[in-house]
Amino acid sequence: TSTPKRIAVTGAAGQICYALLFRIAKGDVYGPDQPVILQLLDLPQAQDAVRGVVMELADCAFPLLVETMVTDDPATAFRDADAAFFVGSRPRGKGMERRDLLSANAEIFRAQGRALNETAKRDAKVVVVGNPANTNAMILAANAPDFPNENVTSMIRLDHNRALTQLATKAGVAVAEIDRLAVWGNHSPTMFADWTEATAQGGKLPDMIGDDAWYRDTLIPNVARRGTAIIEARGASSAASAANAAIDHMHGWIHGTGGKWMSMGVHSNGEYGIPEGLMFGVPVICANGTYERVEGLTFTDFQREMMARTIAELEEEREAVSALL
Ligand code: NDP
Repeated sequence: TSTPKRIAVTGAAGQICYALLFRIAKGDVYGPDQPVILQLLDLPQAQDAVRGVVMELADCAFPLLVETMVTDDPATAFRDADAAFFVGSRPRGKGMERRDLLSANAEIFRAQGRALNETAKRDAKVVVVGNPANTNAMILAANAPDFPNENVTSMIRLDHNRALTQLATKAGVAVAEIDRLAVWGNHSPTMFADWTEATAQGGKLPDMIGDDAWYRDTLIPNVARRGTAIIEARGASSAASAANAAIDHMHGWIHGTGGKWMSMGVHSNGEYGIPEGLMFGVPVICANGTYERVEGLTFTDFQREMMARTIAELEEEREAVSALL
């Protein structure tokens, strides 16, 4: 058998990890023939809870899970990691302003960036899930100067998946038939689910659906507000679908997307007028373990307006944490 892949996961005692870890251990990231080692990080006060999860992982007797390690030290968690899921982050407390939340998380991700810099493999693939995911990922990368920027990404795949299902339902096609969907920008209500280039069954999806008002007034806001709708219905935030999206994100990056677009938060080099250095959701195509940004798109006024909105929000977030960059 091949050398096990080391997968670091933060926030291991949390809700998302309660779905995520079992799927990683089952082989959903690296495939059915690749043994894995889980390197779990959580805060000192969460160590008991993580040990409970580890007992359940053991009770699954997953053939691919060769070892599970638990720690509260980031440098230990990230040592020799091949992949890392940054799920843990500080939730908004009572009376906490958005700015306080940003800086509390900035401190966490600064420390974790330094640890990543110290101990992870240089070609490790990193995805940040914990919110505010884009800005947390930007801080992580900025504090890991010897670690390639390109390998730090943030998750917008859940929004992509949400849009896929809504479009497939509306058009009466299968989810798998849809390509060239893009979700741009921040993983927040300003995100822009963009169907302009989307195709299915050899046609253009906007033409097949033929309802621009539905796109602007229903699809875009419904995707943006889906997280809230789930909290209202379930009394708890989405966890299994968030874990699934993190798996899709990493699986697509490792195994390729077969020429299809997927949306990923990546470091901006200034493409499409997105300010350099922001971590921004864009369409990519993955092959051979890397991603390529989709280039050469031209934008309508509506697209430009929607992009400007989410850019402005991410610039505000960057401003709020600038001291830690
Ligand atoms: P969850 O596991 O439910 O969520 C973890 C993070 O993912 C949150 O920031 C959450 O954002 C975010 N998230 C991103 N997308 C989604 C989505 N679509 N739906 C829901 N959440 C999403 O949080 P828990 O509070 O259950 O667990 C967090 C764990 O992290 C705790 O065990 C805590 O101890 C740990 N933690 C670890 C740290 C560390 O390792 N250093 C630091 C801080 C916390 P949102 O809050 O906006 O829903």
